[in-house]
Amino acid sequence: MSPRRARRRGPFERPDGRVVRPVGPQVAGVDRVESAHDGEWVVRNVSGAAQGKAYRCPGCEQEIRPGLPHVVSWPAWPGGEDERRHWHTACWRNRANRGPGRSRY
Ligand SMILES: [Zn+2]
Repeated sequence: MSPRRARRRGPFERPDGRVVRPVGPQVAGVDRVESAHDGEWVVRNVSGAAQGKAYRCPGCEQEIRPGLPHVVSWPAWPGGEDERRHWHTACWRNRANRGPGRSRY
């Protein structure tokens, strides 16, 4: 077996062939659309394992360390992918729960 895999495996399939089921309702690698007070957002859970670089979370202005599972979101309209942002999972939830009228933006 070559150490380099020619084909991408599913997100929960490990090199030893076992499939790891995610715990809870959030499934990594699957996009979902969430409605927020400022529109609809596509949200993707990412493991962070393959990114190899740090991002800055717009919610708390702190770095998202490489390898830390987090979410990527962007506006759910054409071209919205250009606005992709990486968020800590908790910060994204806090943003979504902030609700209309209480936003500081
Ligand atoms: Zn954050």
